[in-house]
Amino acid sequence: MYQMHIPTNTIFGVGTLNTLHKQALPGRKAMIVISNGKSTRVNGYLDRVQQQLTMADIAFVVFDKVQPNPLKATVEEGAAFARDNRCDFIVALGGGSVMDAAKVMAMFANETGDLWDFVTSGTGKRMPRQGKAMPVVAITTTAGTGSEVDTYGVITNPETNEKIGLGWSDMFPVLAIVDPELMLTVPPAFTAYQGFDALFHSTEGYISRVANPVSDMFALKAIENVSRNLATCVNDGQNLEAREKVAFGNTLSGYQMDAGSTSSKHSLEHAMSGYHQELPHGAGLIMLSVAYYTHFINAHACDDRFIDMARVMGIADANKPQDFITALVRLQEACGVADLKMSDYGIQPSEFLTLAKNAKSAMGSLFECDRIELSDEDCVAIYQAAYK
Ligand SMILES: [Zn+2]
Repeated sequence: MYQMHIPTNTIFGVGTLNTLHKQALPGRKAMIVISNGKSTRVNGYLDRVQQQLTMADIAFVVFDKVQPNPLKATVEEGAAFARDNRCDFIVALGGGSVMDAAKVMAMFANETGDLWDFVTSGTGKRMPRQGKAMPVVAITTTAGTGSEVDTYGVITNPETNEKIGLGWSDMFPVLAIVDPELMLTVPPAFTAYQGFDALFHSTEGYISRVANPVSDMFALKAIENVSRNLATCVNDGQNLEAREKVAFGNTLSGYQMDAGSTSSKHSLEHAMSGYHQELPHGAGLIMLSVAYYTHFINAHACDDRFIDMARVMGIADANKPQDFITALVRLQEACGVADLKMSDYGIQPSEFLTLAKNAKSAMGSLFECDRIELSDEDCVAIYQAAYK
């Protein structure tokens, strides 16, 4: 059984940003959402998008305040900015944080009250929505989250230390432009963090309980494209062919999430960056990964699936689940991220039970996608084994 609904018109390929003005755009005035960093301006991407919109005779304003691990208050401010400027659609230009924040702004722009009124897990008030999300055009500048083709936005509430994904089907971008040329400027460390996030969306999906023939198809092809090209992107950022393959794997991982899911590893990581805002999502996932998958391998959750993944990652004669760990560690070493440390971000072992409980209350639904049940003690043991 599977169910898949991907209403996003996806335009993928080198140079496709230049076609933006020819696309059917969903309004007359856009709010362009970018990060609070310099790169979107310095690299000329904002200018190029503004030129494209001008060619299409579309007015725009710019909201440039989205931080990594975007905060609830920023999303509320952006939604009000869109409303006050009478925008009728949003252009998200950036990586996962920008696209996630923009999608939730699009939803909240047509609601009143507090964003957490509508959040459906943790301390969210689970109130029904009244409005419909504004249309979003997603132009991704990174290969990491697949957010350009999925319905979710992950937002952090610093008052409750919750980092929660929320999504409704009207939050799918109406148009996604995935132009690998925009990814040439991503620095090596972030290329690695984002690429591993893309990889893990599919490795988690492939071992999850809700995997199905369609999600499997996307997942294996995504794992192959990302794992075989990511080290080249990290070590030779200007290699457009490798960037294109990782971008393709990332978008496939987005489709994988639409047809399948991720797993509790994402919940465990969201707890870490929920308490430690400066920890990049992909880096947190890398820190957890070997311990997490080893736990599932030791429990014989799905031996054959780990072997399948090891094979597409390049171990052609893989015949035991542990081969997946070998391939994973090799890739981490090739990308220079095998030694990331939780302690470098201020995480202490004394927090592990708090993190485990936070992961379950804020993002409990992903634990239901696991093939084996993780108790709080299991989660603490995974954090402990992953700790450096
Ligand atoms: Zn992720």
